[in-house]
Amino acid sequence: MVIGVLALQGDFIEHEKKLKECGAEVFEIRQRGDIERDFDGLVLPGGESTVIGKLLHELDLFEPLHKKIIGGMPVLATCAGMILLAERIENDENVYFGTIKMTVRRNAYGRQLGSFRTSSEMKGVGNIPMTFIRAPYISGTNGAEILAEVDGKAVAARQGNQIALAFHPELDECNMVYNYFLKSI
Ligand code: GLN
Repeated sequence: MVIGVLALQGDFIEHEKKLKECGAEVFEIRQRGDIERDFDGLVLPGGESTVIGKLLHELDLFEPLHKKIIGGMPVLATCAGMILLAERIENDENVYFGTIKMTVRRNAYGRQLGSFRTSSEMKGVGNIPMTFIRAPYISGTNGAEILAEVDGKAVAARQGNQIALAFHPELDECNMVYNYFLKSI
């Protein structure tokens, strides 16, 4: 199984390590030519959604990746990646891929003190550690299925082949989310 990891900014290296541990072949998506090859799934990492969004357009990656996602390519998106997939961002006028019918709130836990670690049940996965870093949460859905909540806030969602997480599974020892993603492909 071959997974492309968007490697423009943010914590893509940690994702690559996890995917390899789970038996996937991994390559980095940095420029248009990188996605000419065949691949089975896409990872959109955490980082800064405004920066990643801008680079996607500048590097001519936005349209082809958008097409792939709409076409059903399995996607695992974390934190900023989740923001890229949301059809609406409550506190930002940008919309990026907009392929998951949900509204998210950026920096929803406050900017400075908004990083914390907890654990919770994720549907289809089990009880897993969850690390939040200036994270968004899902403030509403318009069709996306909610897979996990923390303190009454939705933090994981799925719509078809797209899985979006407000937290960072790449930073915890647990590989359950990656196995869930790879198995779903
Ligand atoms: N705060 C970032 C944003 O709004 C997301 C943070 C992260 O990916 N760790 O894009």
